[in-house]
Amino acid sequence: MIYLDNAATTPIPRPVADAMYEVLTQQFGNPSAQYPYGRQAHAMVEDCRKTLGQALDMDPECLFFTSCGTESDNWAISAALWQGRHRGRHIITTSVEHSAILQPLKLLEQQGYEVTYLKPDRTGHITAQQVMDALREDTVLISMMLVNNETGCIFPVEETARLLKASGSRALLHSDAVQGFLKVPCDPAGWGVDLMSFSAHKIGGPKGIGALYVAPHLLKNLRPLLAGGGQEKGLRSGTEATAQIAGFAKAAALRAENWAEKMARMGQIKDYCREKLLRIPSMVEIGRGQAPHILAMSLPGYPSSNIVTELGQQGICISAGSACHQGKASHVVSALGLDKKTAAGVIRISFGPETTEQDIDALYEALLHHKTNRFPML
Ligand code: PLP
Repeated sequence: MIYLDNAATTPIPRPVADAMYEVLTQQFGNPSAQYPYGRQAHAMVEDCRKTLGQALDMDPECLFFTSCGTESDNWAISAALWQGRHRGRHIITTSVEHSAILQPLKLLEQQGYEVTYLKPDRTGHITAQQVMDALREDTVLISMMLVNNETGCIFPVEETARLLKASGSRALLHSDAVQGFLKVPCDPAGWGVDLMSFSAHKIGGPKGIGALYVAPHLLKNLRPLLAGGGQEKGLRSGTEATAQIAGFAKAAALRAENWAEKMARMGQIKDYCREKLLRIPSMVEIGRGQAPHILAMSLPGYPSSNIVTELGQQGICISAGSACHQGKASHVVSALGLDKKTAAGVIRISFGPETTEQDIDALYEALLHHKTNRFPML
């Protein structure tokens, strides 16, 4: 199998699976229990928090485990709105966020919140100035992703944090860094971001575990997500998912080793892929995403759902760039203002540390074959 869908999820390296197996079979105690098995499990969870804190250059006390990136996003929104409840009901976000942000915001609009959706330019980018122009006295939350999951565009989270602080606004800044963590520079504490979301399964960790960074100034009054047994300092109750946490930390530690080299290599693979696929007549690049792991392309007139299915049958996994939801272009593709045929043909190729030039060569051959043997849609 040739796996080129690493933005959807990633394979689990053996050391990560081993770390999880060890916890499942040997360190299965409940971290809240007072006997040695429990204390050992508690210490393991705290070690993992430290490992992740190191990977993010932050105080581990600011990191809270959740069940996934979606949960972190939902929590960040609800916590920020609670924090600003006496100041206003206006939210700023981008029209190309993941549905883990857009869907909760849609529900909030039904409850009387007002949301400004910033539109990207044709290359897929948003500027910090767009945020500042939309900022109001009653803005309580800005949610801007670090890397877009369909185009690979990097958004100016650091600059937005800086401008926001300089403006004196009390709006909180959240960033969904699910696609950015360990792919591009990510320093929530150094940048002055208030809340940031992470997920393990995009970096070689297991599904079902994520984390939320909470800036120190918010810790005292943060609204808990789940009330119950008091785990995660009483902010996110529920017995800790110890094996998942161990897998998350191990995956982050592995990816963080020689990180710059690995990302440079991934960037080379992306350049190789772009250059090779552009040799196919009429193939175009979509957006100008700079993240090293995501490349969006389109074969105008050739519906991406057909391409994805046919390549899948040949053992090559790519995605339709989340592009085809019941035959309609995704909200991200739609936001780029592409013509209908180009929008319908968008595919997303996403790379991992294991991706090779041979994988890209096989993709090229399969796409060329598809184009030669299929009639384009009219
Ligand atoms: N945010 C972004 C940008 C994503 O790409 C994803 C997953 O595709 C999520 C959030 C959701 O993460 P999870 O699958 O851990 O809920």
